[in-house]
Amino acid sequence: MRCDVCGGELRAGDETPWGTWWSCGTCFATALTRPGEPPDLPPFRPLGDRWTTLVEEQAASVVWHALVFSTLTGCGRSGAGMAAENFSWKPDDNRACERCRRVLRTADAHWPRGVRGRPG
Ligand SMILES: [Zn+2]
Ligand SMILES: [Zn+2]
Repeated sequence: MRCDVCGGELRAGDETPWGTWWSCGTCFATALTRPGEPPDLPPFRPLGDRWTTLVEEQAASVVWHALVFSTLTGCGRSGAGMAAENFSWKPDDNRACERCRRVLRTADAHWPRGVRGRPG
């Protein structure tokens, strides 16, 4: 299945009672499919309002990762065991993970202008 947002390859993820979650390896858009229905595609949201924050405690500091899909962080790690906060991940915060920031800024550039701001 192709990503409706950028045309990238969608990867199948978690099966849930509501259907199957898919995520795009290029722009990290997610989609939910239910048998017999068209995919439920995401609205575009600004970079600082798109992902849940996962907090990783390190020796002397904390690092905020973006939870982009299921238990996967933007930097490609498993977020299992990290605490999810109820605020969005902010790329400009100085606690933001450097690699998440780089990966997600690149991903963000793949969202075509034409679908930015479409209603959710
Ligand atoms: Zn995509
Ligand atoms: Zn990260």
